[in-house]
Order: sequence, then C-alpha cells, then structure tokens
Amino acid sequence: MAVVSVSMPEELLNRIDEFADEHGYTGRSEVVREASRNLLGEFEDAKLEDRDLMAIVTVLFNYETTSVEERMMHLRHEHERLVASNFHSHVGPHYCMELFVLEGSLADISTFVGKVRATKDTLTVDYSVMPVDEFGPGAIESDHGHGHGHGN
Ligand SMILES: [Zn+2]
Repeated sequence: MAVVSVSMPEELLNRIDEFADEHGYTGRSEVVREASRNLLGEFEDAKLEDRDLMAIVTVLFNYETTSVEERMMHLRHEHERLVASNFHSHVGPHYCMELFVLEGSLADISTFVGKVRATKDTLTVDYSVMPVDEFGPGAIESDHGHGHGHGN
C-alpha cells in the first residue's frame, strides 16, 4: 500500500480518530479508505445506469457568500440541457437555498453533483435521484445522498 500525506482540518481529523475509536477501526487510515470507497461507489448503481433519471439537488449557503450564487448560475448555464428548472429561495435572514431539478443520465447527474460539491463555501449539498422511465407499483426507487460543503 502507498503511504500518502493528505491535508485536512484538525477538527475533521479529531472526528475521524473518534469515529475509528468508537467503531472499532484499526485507525484513521482504515476510516479514510472506507470513506473513499463509499464516495467512489456512490454513483455506480447498476439499477440506475442507462436509464432516464431525474434528480433534485439542493445547496445551502450564506447570504453574504455571493461567490456561491455566482457559481450556481454558471453551473446552470454550463449544464443547460441537464437542468430542467432552478429555484432560488431565501431561508431566514442569513441563508440562501438553490434548488435544481435535473433530467438526464446517471453520469451527467453525478458530474453536476460533483461540481456543486466542489464549490467553496457551501454549507450543505443534498440530492436525490429517481428513475422516470418506468412508473407503476414499486417501479420508483430513489437514492438519497448528502454531504457537507467545503469551507468551514
Ligand atoms: Zn438568496
């Protein structure tokens, strides 16, 4: 196995160590390896491949962080064919929420979610994916994912 050095905030490292301790992992390396595998496998869902899908993506950020809003607007234009609709809402005095409705393939949705997650200074990024090519009892299964943004 290769030994790599990764920079991360002290607070995250402490949480990893605590998690390793509480869940019986041998150490932080094992936690990081498993987390990486989960992230990489997240969009490798055979049930959803080669199907028409829709997805809802929500992004929460601080009202003062105008760079996020700008980035969201760019993403919307960059992925014009994928973004079916887009909605901006003010949540309380301090927050903004951007909601995207996407229609496309798993690969395109995964690319879009990845770019949203890579945006600096977001607070949370959530999404759910569901197939729209088949309706009927039990035909719709949805997958949910969420994550915290970069920044704090
Ligand atoms: Zn706003």
